[in-house]
Amino acid sequence: MDALERDYVQSRTVEIVACNLCGSTRHTPVYRMPDRRFFPQDFFTVVECCECGLGFVNPRPSTAEIQKHYPLEYFEQPATKSHERYLQRRFSAEASYLRAIESGGAPRRLLDVGCANGDFPRFMAACGWIVEGVEISESSQRIQDFRVHTQEFQDIAVTEPAYDAVTAWAVLEHVHDPMAYFHKAAKVLKKNGLFVFLVTNFQSVASRYLFCEDVPRHLHFFTRETIRQYLDATGFALEREDNGRNIYKLAPVNWLSYMLRTCLKRRKFSFEDVPLTHREFRARHNLPRGLRASLKYAVYHPASVIDRMLWPAIETAQILRKNYGISTYVARKL
Ligand SMILES: [Zn+2]
Repeated sequence: MDALERDYVQSRTVEIVACNLCGSTRHTPVYRMPDRRFFPQDFFTVVECCECGLGFVNPRPSTAEIQKHYPLEYFEQPATKSHERYLQRRFSAEASYLRAIESGGAPRRLLDVGCANGDFPRFMAACGWIVEGVEISESSQRIQDFRVHTQEFQDIAVTEPAYDAVTAWAVLEHVHDPMAYFHKAAKVLKKNGLFVFLVTNFQSVASRYLFCEDVPRHLHFFTRETIRQYLDATGFALEREDNGRNIYKLAPVNWLSYMLRTCLKRRKFSFEDVPLTHREFRARHNLPRGLRASLKYAVYHPASVIDRMLWPAIETAQILRKNYGISTYVARKL
């Protein structure tokens, strides 16, 4: 740890942690990057556990400090028709994972962890499920039509096997203690109930090398091996892993710049080598959105423009090789 980092830790807004999966304190740095969305001056280090391979931000903002990295605009969603269509497609894809336990009998009970404004549980209620949610952000306050627990998942009052399914869409990478979430899911699920969750994939080039993770809102980075270990430790059997982009995407942004630097120049690709995004470019050059800005950006960053055209092909290749940036897991409570 250098002097700057030590000062930062002593400010008590951050904490140094052991591996959440195996408890080891031995880890190696993987990369450094800032909070690109809201605090570009705040840098964080992502490390990898030497024992089990779990990735995590370390040192990391404490549970109190992390709130500042979730300003109100983080929760804002565009109220457009196309966003509405996107949500319907996403919910249908998410719901397809629950179909296996839907057929016949009494209505099934679902707990959606990290339910935001409640749209996914509402979608499932329309499919005949009895739904509840867990949400600690203020977006839970607007939910009137079903029960919402407003504590961290491990602290909710339910302690017996009450649900047929627990879902967590892009939640576990955000929390300080994923192990507590796995334990709690095991506790509140009925025998043979399903725990369905989506996380980013630390084995993908986007997550590991291209600075595409939403640090420090993303605090943990999982692989299929570390997920398997979490499930083994908490009484689940892994039934299925889908690696793909049908629910969320993690595009391989700047793949071309990364390949040019690491393969041709044989140099490390660090955050300082990442080309400006179109938005960052406009802000730096004080340009309004439009054709002039786009042309100027293409002249300054031709690799980024070509890169953008390559994404669909690269993503397809990654999905075929099962190393795309997003994975959905289905685990059965034993
Ligand atoms: Zn570990």
